[in-house]
Amino acid sequence: MSREREKGDLPVQSTPDRLATVKFKVAKEPHISVDAEKCKLCAEKPCVTVCPAENYQLSEDKKTVILSWESCLECGSCALVCPYSAVKWCYPTGGFGISYRLG
Ligand code: SF4
Repeated sequence: MSREREKGDLPVQSTPDRLATVKFKVAKEPHISVDAEKCKLCAEKPCVTVCPAENYQLSEDKKTVILSWESCLECGSCALVCPYSAVKWCYPTGGFGISYRLG
């Protein structure tokens, strides 16, 4: 059931359009790390498919992952889905990380 758009509603945008509005202030130190030895135990590598920012890529030998944390959306999904607790995640240092713009 749909309804009329009301004053105060967010404009309808596609996910890529919304992601294009975010800003990142990248900290010097990464807020995510991957334990490569634990990662090698995992065949599925769910972090690669769950990350909405596509920050995880399979390594060439497909045994571990390559992480680009600079454009992290701070959803925490990668740490939650890792079956071997190989992903250590925390929020970036205060003042750094993503800024969302609404509207
Ligand atoms: Fe990707 Fe979310 Fe993990 Fe950031 S916290 S790397 S956006 S899955």
